[in-house]
Amino acid sequence: MPTINRIAVIGAGLMGHGIALACARAGFDVTITDPIPDARISVKTRIAESLSLLGIGKAEIEAALEKIDVCPDVREAVENAGLVFEAAPEKLALKQSIFAEIETYAPQDAILASNTSVMPITAIMSQLKDKGRALGTHWWNPPHIIPLVEVIRTAETTEDTMATTIAVLTQAGKTPVRVEKDVPGFIGNRLQHALWREAISLVERGICDARAVDTVVKASFGRRLAVLGPLENADLVGCDLTLDIHNTVLADLERRAGPSPLLEELVATGRLGMKTGDGFRSWSPEEAKALREKVVTHLRRLEQILD
Ligand code: NAD
Repeated sequence: MPTINRIAVIGAGLMGHGIALACARAGFDVTITDPIPDARISVKTRIAESLSLLGIGKAEIEAALEKIDVCPDVREAVENAGLVFEAAPEKLALKQSIFAEIETYAPQDAILASNTSVMPITAIMSQLKDKGRALGTHWWNPPHIIPLVEVIRTAETTEDTMATTIAVLTQAGKTPVRVEKDVPGFIGNRLQHALWREAISLVERGICDARAVDTVVKASFGRRLAVLGPLENADLVGCDLTLDIHNTVLADLERRAGPSPLLEELVATGRLGMKTGDGFRSWSPEEAKALREKVVTHLRRLEQILD
């Protein structure tokens, strides 16, 4: 398996800064670039802030920052990289053009990975000359705290590319999971949005309000999800009980192919959630800030407990 020492990150936003941070903390040399000067100027400060929020001391923060080189362009960022993580905006044509540029300047054996949330990797990589070294690596937000990275193979990704990427991610302290077929949403977002579809439907059908949906999840199965996956749970309660439940409940679950009209109406009327103050619920800026902070604190504590 090739040894990878240098990792390039393309896009220094929310995900890019966290991916760079995770790789640098694991000891990799990291290059990062972004076309927006402000993003390049601020990225090291943002990384230091994120590390500080994790309770990391000054010396360790300095050591991580020393491993990171902020580059003026893609060419400089990728020219000596063994693996490139692209974390640019979720637009197909943009990602395709970024990968064309990466392929021009990166070493011929460098692995090329996209961090798209849901777009088919096959489409993003369709114009590459060598598609065998291309794949998806779906990190979760915040990427330096959530362990999972889904590693998505296209019909053309080689096994060497998969294995080397999984080895690098493991070395970076992540939990890589193989996704053997390039389906929209991979594994995690398919599961998550199957739940969200039913959650929205419950409100739309007047069965309960949004707060009740969230309370039910948080006060029940949400509590065990970090240690008990759904299929472990099915085995735990018994596949026979699971079958009985499915025979009764599945026919009544939401199965509309497209988005909910309730969600479409919220968006059409500018109720976009915390950023506009209204969504499924109303949010003051203080409430939104408190919830964001609670998530980070919870994830940190959970990490300590599970470790
Ligand atoms: P972001 O907007 O925070 O960051 C994107 C960065 O890309 C910005 O700094 C922007 O200046 C930069 N950029 C713009 N054009 C570029 C170009 N041509 N080349 C390189 N960089 C460019 O977005 P984000 O949340 O970090 O998302 C990045 C990717 O990660 C998207 O594909 C997104 O779907 C995916 N993703 C996001 C999340 C999340 O929760 N935010 C989770 C998983 C995956």
